[in-house]
Amino acid sequence: ETEVPENHPRYASLVTRHRIEAGVEAGITSKQGLIAQGRGEAFDYLLGEQTLPSADEAARAAAAVLLSAEHPVISVNGNVAALVPAETVELAAAVDADLEVNLFNHTDERVRRIADHLRDHGADEVKGMAADGEIPGLSHARGTVDADGIEAADVVVVPLEDGDRAAALDAMGKTEIVIDLNPGSRSPRTASVPIIDNLIRAVPNVTAHARDLDGADDAELRAIVERFDADAALADAETAIREGTFDTGDDTGDGDDTGD
Ligand code: ATP
Ligand code: MG
Repeated sequence: ETEVPENHPRYASLVTRHRIEAGVEAGITSKQGLIAQGRGEAFDYLLGEQTLPSADEAARAAAAVLLSAEHPVISVNGNVAALVPAETVELAAAVDADLEVNLFNHTDERVRRIADHLRDHGADEVKGMAADGEIPGLSHARGTVDADGIEAADVVVVPLEDGDRAAALDAMGKTEIVIDLNPGSRSPRTASVPIIDNLIRAVPNVTAHARDLDGADDAELRAIVERFDADAALADAETAIREGTFDTGDDTGDGDDTGD
């Protein structure tokens, strides 16, 4: 990470890439995770690599949903573990949620490595190894979860979830919070609370809102959730992308990104 000069106009994006690369090298992130990262980067570029006000509202609604939950679970995959391990552990602590490793391309070895990685970043218990529960309607490999984790959860945070799994979790009656940079992807379109933002910004932002809402009563939390409009949030992100009202960080005005 230190090889990237901090004054580089694409600093944040390059650091993110290095983290994903390191995740692949450490056996935490899958090769498909690299492709997902590339898709995400394209959308983040179009969003100006910043949190839209509508995404900030979504993050606040997500915090309110998590604080109101009986049994919230944060699902962690290889990209989440590579990009925001400490921030994800902090979010779980702030809202008293379980952490569960849940992979689209499951191997026991990778689940174990991710769980160890989260523990290195301060996690206490990490679920995902029991694999004694299921999400109905999916193949065994895709639908295996922990019975006392995601299967029993009322609220699940599923960053970068695959569309089919998001739909299957929805069919189980779970309240889903999806973090995804593509407002057109099926997973955020299935979510009760879609946060159209980069994981790197969104995860600590939900934690900050949760801390801010600490001590709020049920009525206040419920009002925040009821005020949130998922369709409007998706539409707002799509408009921002289409209208291109973004700042690419190249302030030279020559249209490229070299900063020259
Ligand atoms: P589906 O419609 O089934 O959901 P998809 O287009 O989302 O398909 P994937 O390959 O699962 O297909 O895409 C990965 C998703 O993860 C993309 O939508 C991408 O925007 C998102 N993504 C990748 N990196 C990040 C990140 N750092 N923060 C937020 N979202 C990200
Ligand atoms: Mg998706």
